[in-house]
Amino acid sequence: MEIKYLGTAAAEGWPGLFCSCDHCRRARLAGGASIRTRSQAIVDESLLIDFPPDTYLHVLQQGLDLTRVTHCLITHDHSDHLYAGDFAMRSGAFAHRQTQEELTVFATLPACEKIWPVLSKHNDSEGPTVCCQIRPFEPFAAGRYQVVPLKADHAQESEPVIYLISREGRTLLYGNDTGWFPQETWQYLKEEGHLLNLVSLDCTALQLDWRRGHMGLAACAEVRQKLIEMRLADDQTHFVINHFSHNGGLIHDELVPVAAELGFSVAYDGLTVPV
Ligand SMILES: [Zn+2]
Ligand SMILES: [Zn+2]
Ligand SMILES: [Zn+2]
Repeated sequence: MEIKYLGTAAAEGWPGLFCSCDHCRRARLAGGASIRTRSQAIVDESLLIDFPPDTYLHVLQQGLDLTRVTHCLITHDHSDHLYAGDFAMRSGAFAHRQTQEELTVFATLPACEKIWPVLSKHNDSEGPTVCCQIRPFEPFAAGRYQVVPLKADHAQESEPVIYLISREGRTLLYGNDTGWFPQETWQYLKEEGHLLNLVSLDCTALQLDWRRGHMGLAACAEVRQKLIEMRLADDQTHFVINHFSHNGGLIHDELVPVAAELGFSVAYDGLTVPV
């Protein structure tokens, strides 16, 4: 497998949509990897994770080919992860598609409740977009992938999940948005005993020591250590931090050496990592 990061910012983007703080100013000046759009990733160019308002930008700038996407996992219904209205653009005169493959979207109930009304108004009878409700700790197949949604520590009314994604004996954990994992999630990971080949963690707060709702560098380092101690990760496991807010202070080039000290790579828009 491989994962490509399409968007790596928290909700406001970096630079923030309405922000003129020093960290956003420095990101604008630095450009390149310091410019971050809202969260989205894709596995093997076919399994999409999240559907933010910047999806269209990713189509334009990151070579995202949505005509190849057959399955989409939604982590939760926050606006930086789900812009449900754009699912309409896959139907009728909005899209002339070469194949009649379905697009299956998996989401917990609050996100389903935003997607279903769009699909009931705008959908095709052939190759429709289908939205399936999922629940934490109930595994499902998404095409060639085995997927397990795990509970996240984040706005609970959103019923947020993070995802274990496996294919052909390789497993990745896509872990945002979340604070320190809930006990049930640690328990599931322990009982399943998956060796994780790639772990992607929420590091929204960077230098700020956040542990609930989102994490910073210190909490991410502790999650990494705990996974190693539980033998769920080893020295071959690739750890990546992702989903950054300007409030955390470090633009990309400042962050890379700090993260490397802690054993992490830093996601940026366009980064591809083998799993
Ligand atoms: Zn987010
Ligand atoms: Zn800012
Ligand atoms: Zn969120």
